[in-house]
Amino acid sequence: MENILKYQSLDAKKQQLEKSILTSSEKAVMNKMIAYVKEAQNKSMELENQAKKLTEEYLALKKEYDKNILLIKELTSKNSDELTTEQMDQIFHQINLVSSNLYMIERNLNIQIVNIKNILKEFEATKKGVIQARTKHKESKLKYEAFVNDVNPKIEAINKEMQKLESVIDEKLLAKYKSLKHDNIFPVFVPLENGNCGGCRMAQPKGRLDKIKSDGYIICEQCGRVIYNK
Ligand SMILES: [Zn+2]
Repeated sequence: MENILKYQSLDAKKQQLEKSILTSSEKAVMNKMIAYVKEAQNKSMELENQAKKLTEEYLALKKEYDKNILLIKELTSKNSDELTTEQMDQIFHQINLVSSNLYMIERNLNIQIVNIKNILKEFEATKKGVIQARTKHKESKLKYEAFVNDVNPKIEAINKEMQKLESVIDEKLLAKYKSLKHDNIFPVFVPLENGNCGGCRMAQPKGRLDKIKSDGYIICEQCGRVIYNK
């Protein structure tokens, strides 16, 4: 019994060390930074598409603008001596239309320029964030690796010690231990405490308490743990 209890306490220590690796805060930071970079990459792609669309819109407006400028030039180049008053009026009217068109286009062009500038700014901020996240990830990774390199030999040492113990532990007890642990019952071996199971606290019937004295241990009918006499 003494050996299996030692085995169990080593196992508990090992589980604690393994858990400390899994729940390491550096690991959490690393995962967070990876998620950040992934999200930033999606964001950059989205910004790129937006910028592309805005550029296309800008170019279309610019083309329309140039077209209207040409139209004004054409309208103003006509020799007024050869024109009737009616024709002159018509040309003035057309010039007015094109001018107000140009004004609208110019306004839209300026809006597009602001939009593009904003996207570039956002793009730069995202890029900066990614660089910071990568640096932080690298730092956390180094710390995490150092931590794992520190803990792993400890786990290895415990494994060796447990292996050594396995050869001297009662086979039946070891099998029981492994099967219960496999069912996620831990600790497997618990002491009898004032007639109660040390795991689930259920009071053990009188007859079973006698059995514990003769056999050294009993199985708790409620939680299935092995109860031993202290
Ligand atoms: Zn129990």
